[in-house]
Amino acid sequence: MTAPQPHVRAVLALGSNLGEREGTLQGAVADLVDRPEVRLLNVSPVVTTKPVGGPPGQPDFLNMVIAVETTLEPLDLLAHCQAVELAHHRTREVRWGARTLDVDIISYGSVTSADPVLTLPHPRAAGRAFVLYPWSLMDPQATLAGESVAALAAAAPDMAGIAHVQDVPQGQEP
Ligand code: AMP
Repeated sequence: MTAPQPHVRAVLALGSNLGEREGTLQGAVADLVDRPEVRLLNVSPVVTTKPVGGPPGQPDFLNMVIAVETTLEPLDLLAHCQAVELAHHRTREVRWGARTLDVDIISYGSVTSADPVLTLPHPRAAGRAFVLYPWSLMDPQATLAGESVAALAAAAPDMAGIAHVQDVPQGQEP
């Protein structure tokens, strides 16, 4: 008999700027938690954000953050996130280009990793308002590497690109 795995709280960031963006996010959240090893704890509002980097003229992104409790190991959680991306037809041809769905692991408990396959916390999250702002709305007390997520969001260069906040889509309350 195998020992029970510990439950770890992980924060995942989702973004979409192609196709039926809101439906994609809603479907992705449902898919991410559609297995017994992943339980939804919290869901942020959806924010509309201007694209950061990548080719000019891209459509705006919808971004959101969720908190989950998982017994998956970090690399298994990454594989699961990538499977959900693929299921939503993400196009990977252009780095930072338009994509149907992007799912990143922002944090996995207090685990730190410099491995490029899975860097934890996510190496660019601390400077990205499109991650930090919805996270701060979901959890005003949240911290990232010991710093206030709300304060990091306020200082992030792309904070001005956050256009407005949408209500949490129907059926996404934990
Ligand atoms: P991107 O296309 O920008 O979403 O980057 C995907 C690549 O980043 C994949 O090859 C992942 O292995 C790698 N990666 C490294 N750290 C993370 C992370 N914390 N979350 C998601 N992908 C990551």
